[in-house]
Amino acid sequence: MVSTTYDFAIIGAGAAGLNLALCILDEPFFADKKIVIFDGDPKQTNDRTWCFWEKGTGQWDAIVSKTWEKAIITDTTGQQNTFSLLPFSYKMIHAIDFYNYARKKIENASNIIWVAAEVEEVAEEDDLRIKAGKEYRISRHIFDSRISTDFYKDESSVKLLQHFKGWVIETPDAVFDDSTFVMMDFHIRWKDTTSFIYVLPYSKNKALIEFTLFSPHLIQDNEYEMMIQQYLSEVLKLNKYTVTTTEKGVIPMSDYPFHRLNNRKVTKIGTAGSWVKPSSGYSFKNAGKLSRKIVENIRNGELPSRGLINKKFRFYDSLFLNVLYNKNELGPDLFTMMYCKNPIQRIFSFLNEETTLLQDLGIMNSFPKAPFNKALIRRLYTKAFF
Ligand SMILES: Cc1cc2nc3c(=O)[nH]c(=O)nc-3n(C[C@H](O)[C@H](O)[C@H](O)COP(=O)(O)OP(=O)(O)OC[C@H]3O[C@@H](n4cnc5c(N)ncnc54)[C@H](O)[C@@H]3O)c2cc1C
Repeated sequence: MVSTTYDFAIIGAGAAGLNLALCILDEPFFADKKIVIFDGDPKQTNDRTWCFWEKGTGQWDAIVSKTWEKAIITDTTGQQNTFSLLPFSYKMIHAIDFYNYARKKIENASNIIWVAAEVEEVAEEDDLRIKAGKEYRISRHIFDSRISTDFYKDESSVKLLQHFKGWVIETPDAVFDDSTFVMMDFHIRWKDTTSFIYVLPYSKNKALIEFTLFSPHLIQDNEYEMMIQQYLSEVLKLNKYTVTTTEKGVIPMSDYPFHRLNNRKVTKIGTAGSWVKPSSGYSFKNAGKLSRKIVENIRNGELPSRGLINKKFRFYDSLFLNVLYNKNELGPDLFTMMYCKNPIQRIFSFLNEETTLLQDLGIMNSFPKAPFNKALIRRLYTKAFF
């Protein structure tokens, strides 16, 4: 049974789908448009912690639960480098606060409905017929956060995974410096891989301690935990603590051109649309930026996906991933060099894809040339870049 026709359908109420829905609701152009958002998951659990950096105040400050202005990078020998992030700060949001905020906005708006069902099928005719639950709905355009199955079959792209497990621990004594977070501690790592400990001190006696790898293969649950325990005992010298919650995740780090699947009727969003920065795995802040760009494109009568992907930075990401994939053991030194030889402000702007070619060269000069030259040659032989 076909029920209603919509102007826009959003498949997936995650970081990308909800950021986009909120941008649409903020834009008067869409006041007379009908929008539907689908997700089978009610988004009622705190399934992740999102961090991002930004200058000064920002859109999410009301739900930001902690901010840091200093960070530490520790190299493989245990040498610590502490630096100020100013004028940036590193902000943390609990996903549940974002889901609740977005749900409330959607419930209070008259032109959008949230359908609590998974999309099973999309049939392309003149319009798009979407099957979710027992009903079909029609939409003129779809924003789709489902990852294409072609991604898993494709053999020409580099596929690394950012995979991690974290413990939130509480200690009886005040042991954490909660003004500074640990971005990457390479002193504790898994064999010869790009792996590190990430620490977010929520307070002086509560912190998220996460063991993360950027590598092609997952490890066992108890192996991530073994590394966290090693950090707690060898580096923090802690033997009294309670694990209050845990989190785990797997984020694709790939140069697969997800965005090539965009067309006049369908725009892939989120991970499925190349919105995750391939070389870092960050995407929350980018989801807001790209959602605003989509809204601007539609308002200007352009293709919604126009200008979402910056080819220069995708080229850099592709090379960097290629190096990490083929020489995974180099990762700790490459990240340490990047963070210790450049002002953090330049690195954040570079990762935000906002630097000029001259500034990019500054970052590139921090790296040894040979692995990147080899990666360039490998890339040229295997496929075109975009
Ligand atoms: C534990 C964890 C911590 C993270 N920390 C950070 C961080 O600090 N900073 C950062 O930037 N990124 C972080 N990330 C990565 C970030 O969460 C993802 O990159 C981001 O969520 C991707 O957005 P998305 O909308 O594509 O996917 P998601 O947020 O996963 O949302 C996809 C949604 O689509 C729905 N869906 C799937 N199939 C269907 C279907 N057929 N029909 C309807 N709905 C469907 C799913 O239920 C889901 O709700 C973290 C990830 C995890 C797991």
